[in-house]
Amino acid sequence: MKKNVIALTLGAAMVMTITAAAAEFSTVEEGKLYMATNAAFPPYEMTTDDGGFEGIDVEIAGAIAEKLGLELVVDDMEFGSTITSVQAGKDDMVMAGLTVTEERKQNIDFTNSYSTGVQVVIVPEDSDIETVDDLADDKMIGCQEGTTGYIYCSDTVENGGYGEDHVVAYTNGAMAVQALLTGKVDAVVIDSNPAKAFVEANEGLKILDTEYVVEDYAIGVSKENPELLEAINNALVELQEDGTVDAIVGKYINADADEEAATE
Ligand code: GLN
Repeated sequence: MKKNVIALTLGAAMVMTITAAAAEFSTVEEGKLYMATNAAFPPYEMTTDDGGFEGIDVEIAGAIAEKLGLELVVDDMEFGSTITSVQAGKDDMVMAGLTVTEERKQNIDFTNSYSTGVQVVIVPEDSDIETVDDLADDKMIGCQEGTTGYIYCSDTVENGGYGEDHVVAYTNGAMAVQALLTGKVDAVVIDSNPAKAFVEANEGLKILDTEYVVEDYAIGVSKENPELLEAINNALVELQEDGTVDAIVGKYINADADEEAATE
């Protein structure tokens, strides 16, 4: 108990030092930084065997929290609830391999981007689907609910999608991949790094060479807390400039990049 009090006092002292330089900010709970996420999105966020959390987003968030003198709290939920949870003031930020979109900008504010995501197509190894155009031929596509992959694929054919009737939304990426393995869908559209992790973990799947859409990942903060947005963004920029962000990303995905370079 005593330890907690000391930690909190120290935290408060650090916050006060920071507020001298930047605008004062508040968080959901004093001394803490609550991060809404869906910890089923490797290598950005996933659970560890001992019930903790790890991944690129978790580590960058931890480094941001440390810079701000706060303790990171990971709040794991369905991806579809992350933005609303921040809007409702239950969490301070959403960090979930979250793509910046115009529509989302109406609901939350975004920091600078810290990573690029690419939507890719996973198919069974023996599939007749070779390009994204082949998805149009009466195929069923599995996506993760509420994601940009779902939004693009379910859009009308005129808008470059395949139509809502051709897309099935699953609660998370792992369930969409399971549906692909059992033949319930013909392909899964999902972000490239999680796609690689799912293909590595399951036999008989491959990723098509074609990139579907390239996007920017950023941290979402409530529109009602511009001071916190600024504080998080300043911390993020510092971590990008001093190489911390690159080091964290490299720790989780450099091995894949090397592998790709070797096969090119
Ligand atoms: N990048 C995608 C999106 O923002 C998927 C994110 C996720 O599933 N965690 O919609």
